[in-house]
Amino acid sequence: MPIPMLPDFVTSQVDLTPYNTLALPARAGFFARIHSVEQLIALVRHPEFIGRRRFVLGSGSNLLLAGDFSGFVLHMDIPGKRRISEDAAYIYLAAAAGENWSDFVAWTLASGWPGLENLIGIPGAAGAAPIQNIGAYGAEISDFLHQLTALDLASGETLTFAARDCAFGYRESLFKREGWHLSGRYAITEIVLRLPKAWRVRAAYGEIAAELARGGIRNPTPAQVAQVISALRARKLPDPRQLANAGSFFQNPKVSAELAAALQHAHPQLPCYPQPGGGVKLAAAWLIEQTGWKGRNLGPVGMHEQQALVLVNRGGASYRDVQNLSRAVREAVFARFGVSLTPEPVVLADQRTEDRGQRTV
Ligand code: NAP
Repeated sequence: MPIPMLPDFVTSQVDLTPYNTLALPARAGFFARIHSVEQLIALVRHPEFIGRRRFVLGSGSNLLLAGDFSGFVLHMDIPGKRRISEDAAYIYLAAAAGENWSDFVAWTLASGWPGLENLIGIPGAAGAAPIQNIGAYGAEISDFLHQLTALDLASGETLTFAARDCAFGYRESLFKREGWHLSGRYAITEIVLRLPKAWRVRAAYGEIAAELARGGIRNPTPAQVAQVISALRARKLPDPRQLANAGSFFQNPKVSAELAAALQHAHPQLPCYPQPGGGVKLAAAWLIEQTGWKGRNLGPVGMHEQQALVLVNRGGASYRDVQNLSRAVREAVFARFGVSLTPEPVVLADQRTEDRGQRTV
């Protein structure tokens, strides 16, 4: 039977280096640039799509490419943001999956709808934001997400997930926990946020408070909080356009209260943050810095000199280089503190790569 032609927004054998901010080289068997939900629905019904592996790609800012991927990479580039409605307590806003998250936050602030200011500057696309429940400076998207729309890539059905169905946790959601972000089960097409009209400043993080105090600002406006956070991020986090990286490379580990107390006894400077559900969050960056890996390189990759949690590609790195550094840092932290670090980015691998046991970092 002849194979029906693929739509013209699908190309084959595409270099993915520009589509991941860590700039690791890999090729996609098929690459679909999705500008609308209609395109996505058309693709899902196409005989060439059915039965092939698929991966839903946003901005590639939290992605590790472990090698070539023979299936379909769906680059979610759907634009659009709008105010949906409001009631006495909330304003409801929508962002299509391809909207740049930070630009969306800036738009809400410029429109006079505060609330998301602590999340300004987080790289990535709006559609990917709920998957790892992006968060920064004491706020997370789950504080604001009302619902999201997703397309089931097997059935072509459109589904709505209410916030309570997303099972959000610390940098975690149902989508991530179930592995749907890797298996390409759903493509998130739109998110709807609910911003409380009663705004409250979130300046508990020491760096924000210190920066506001330095500027003599006692009652900051949302725009001032956003400004302070943008400046802090610019100072510490490398811009991937200048130095390739995938943001925070390790999650902050959560340990038992007993282990945290023992570690703090041995290392009085250790930052500890007790968590609402029990356990204590440790700062991975601090642990890495103590091992001497901050600002140190291994081959073409290294841990950034301003922020030890960010693994950078200084040029021409391979996935193997990233694995080697990740392993060295994890071993050093474990040897010193007995704490295991877990890499944060999503690893995209073909079946063959997984079979060779290369999927871990
Ligand atoms: P930092 O201010 O140097 O603090 C180090 C770590 O300690 C952070 O990871 C933070 O945990 C935790 N921490 C600091 N003050 C805290 C407090 N008052 N209560 C609870 N936890 C506290 O952090 P940084 O590396 O410069 O990053 C600044 C913020 O941007 C952090 O919130 C970080 O998570 C966020 N960020 C997020 C992403 C992402 O979503 N992928 C990427 C880059 C940076 P938390 O990380 O839990 O906040």
